[in-house]
Amino acid sequence: MELIFATHNQHKVEELKKLFPPYISILSLADINCTQEIEETGKTLEENAKLKATFIKYKYGLDCFSDDSGLEIESLNGAPGVYSARYAGKSKNDDSNIKKIWEELKEKSNTKAQFRTVIAASFNNNLELFEGIVKGNLIFEKRGEKGFGYDPIFIPYGYDKTFAELGDVVKNTISHRAIAAQYFLNRLINLKKA
Ligand code: IMP
Repeated sequence: MELIFATHNQHKVEELKKLFPPYISILSLADINCTQEIEETGKTLEENAKLKATFIKYKYGLDCFSDDSGLEIESLNGAPGVYSARYAGKSKNDDSNIKKIWEELKEKSNTKAQFRTVIAASFNNNLELFEGIVKGNLIFEKRGEKGFGYDPIFIPYGYDKTFAELGDVVKNTISHRAIAAQYFLNRLINLKKA
């Protein structure tokens, strides 16, 4: 089985390839010579994931999937959510995004947050969604050098280190993306058995 992962982020493609068995071959957009940026104009993670997956399905006629993720903060009613990458502006700067969150949280005592991923998969002439969530708390200092985005300020439940301190090996077993990918993989495995 061949599936296109509708992302230009090669790091994500390699991460997914490690999770999937050899009979499911994951191709990137570069592998099908697609250099086009697919605009994320949706108002939810679900909408963005769906529009990327359906774009590739209709343009190339290939089975594919895409993901969209974000940080959802309880006391900010789920913000920054779908706007996580560009919360402090179009420059998509991680430091500015974190500073904006600290500013908005400074009067609040509730620091609970979650990372959420939605995978939209277009295969077998269906569009299916798979969700992964990891819950934790935010801190008011940056800790750790690994990872990206909000990793230095997010401590998952059950740990006393941030994602940026824990690093990829631990993160890839408990992360929102890993959980969503596992649900998707289980669906593909069941399909093969049927
Ligand atoms: P994407 O949909 O995976 O590109 O994620 C959108 C944005 O959400 C990123 O640019 C980050 O700001 C944030 N984000 C998503 N996943 C993570 C993560 O695992 N760690 C830190 N930040 C993340």
